Amino acid sequence: MANAQMAKAIPALAAALGPKGWSEDAAALGPHLVDARERYKGKALGLARPKSTEEVAFVVRICAEHGIGIVPQGGNTGLVGGATPQGPGNEILIQLGRMNRILALDADNDTMTVEAGCVLADIQAAAERAERLFPLRLASEGSAQIGGVLSTNAGGNAVLRYGNARELVLGLEVVLADGSIWNGLRGLRKDNTGYDLKQLFIGAEGTLGIVTAAVLKLFPAPRDTATAFAAISDPKAAIELLRLAKAEAGAHLTAFELLPRIGLDFVLTHIPGTRDPLAARYDWYALLECTSPSMASPLQPLLVALLEKANALGLLQDAAIAETLEQKNAFWRLRDSLPEAQKQEGGSIKHDVSVPVSKLPEFMDRATALVTEKLPGVRVVAFGHAGDGNLHFNLSQPEGANKETFLAKWESVNRWVHDLAVEMGGSFAAEHGVGQMKRAALAHYKSETEIALMTRLKRTLDPNALLNPGKILPPRDD
Ligand SMILES: Cc1cc2nc3c(=O)[nH]c(=O)nc-3n(C[C@H](O)[C@H](O)[C@H](O)COP(=O)(O)OP(=O)(O)OC[C@H]3O[C@@H](n4cnc5c(N)ncnc54)[C@H](O)[C@@H]3O)c2cc1C
Repeated sequence: MANAQMAKAIPALAAALGPKGWSEDAAALGPHLVDARERYKGKALGLARPKSTEEVAFVVRICAEHGIGIVPQGGNTGLVGGATPQGPGNEILIQLGRMNRILALDADNDTMTVEAGCVLADIQAAAERAERLFPLRLASEGSAQIGGVLSTNAGGNAVLRYGNARELVLGLEVVLADGSIWNGLRGLRKDNTGYDLKQLFIGAEGTLGIVTAAVLKLFPAPRDTATAFAAISDPKAAIELLRLAKAEAGAHLTAFELLPRIGLDFVLTHIPGTRDPLAARYDWYALLECTSPSMASPLQPLLVALLEKANALGLLQDAAIAETLEQKNAFWRLRDSLPEAQKQEGGSIKHDVSVPVSKLPEFMDRATALVTEKLPGVRVVAFGHAGDGNLHFNLSQPEGANKETFLAKWESVNRWVHDLAVEMGGSFAAEHGVGQMKRAALAHYKSETEIALMTRLKRTLDPNALLNPGKILPPRDD
């Protein structure tokens, strides 16, 4: 891009946004130029931190006028390099952290209207104060912002019961690529007035517009919770236990997570204050949680009866039920700190895949056989949201292996595992999105028709390819 263009645009942004809203300082920019896993590093002309939708629109208009690419960033917790600028440093970053107001909470309508820079945990807390629930739960909820959460269509631990981000939104406000504002902040559960435009922007990873506000669905706050940490023999038993839990607990079943023994060992070794809830060692564990807004039929007896039934059917090896909030939190800590614990065990090649729930045991068997044959000594640490078919099929380097040599195999190992997931009717990007990391995979696995449709959509909504260039789809070369 011509320097003359930048020479006009940058002072205009600096003057309009002021020192709180614009920075070119290397130290201030630093943390925004690298992704959460430190796999992607980028350069940017500056960081815009607007305080209102009108300021976002102004930034986009100036950039559109001068042909400057814009990379939206929320809490920068994304795991596919979607919020990291790429290229020679001719893009700006826009971060909506100053737009963190809860604009309205309508308890009777069960909705909350929030600005896009609100941190997910703050939204959950605001819902709780109104005796409501915003059910999206992620280990990154203390930093992730709702703009980023919606733009990645985040999943998390309660998808089984409440669906992913896409299913939790009634309305959106979006700044479009020409700087115009689309106000779709409607709180309606019924609105059949043509195309559902908001769904275009959810999961679009900032490539079609900048989300500035949202109307979120709320639910009755859970008053009763029962959580169990159950030992099972293998993933097949896990899926049989899941089927039984759905039949016995119905809509109360909120989470069903799978953990392997090796993952638990990593956590017990590396995360201070954790302990094994069960006396003996087992190969696999399921973390089950039931919730209810009513105390009328207590959940603890229901969970006990469910586990007794599972035991009688030979599905269960042992189980612990949380008696206190501390115990419940301790169970969840075992699950949530697994990625951090795995980091301490050297290099790890990651896969965020999904298959139909019914095929999860077969996928586990085949994928494990495949990688252990090709990578002797590799440590398979497959865990995740088994209740919705999403597995983090992560591979830790063999003990004592060289980290760099192991990680150099990332692309080819990904191909084996993704081929298998796709062959079994699954996805190569279940909940973390595409970003930069899986762009080549998207080009490989999606049909020509699907890619053509996506490209046409992108060209219609962002004809000059200025919104998050090179994410999801390849950068434009025309
Ligand atoms: C410890 C940990 C646990 C995680 N657990 C889960 C999990 O269980 N499930 C899950 O789905 N993800 C998980 N993630 C991934 C990540 O937290 C989510 O994808 C989260 O939704 C990203 O939010 P963010 O605000 O950090 O977005 P960022 O990382 O800043 O951005 C993500 C994408 O959204 C775009 N974007 C950001 N803000 C906007 C906006 N206002 N308008 C348009 N585009 C925007 C960015 O350009 C980028 O493409 C986890 C991450 C970590 C580090």
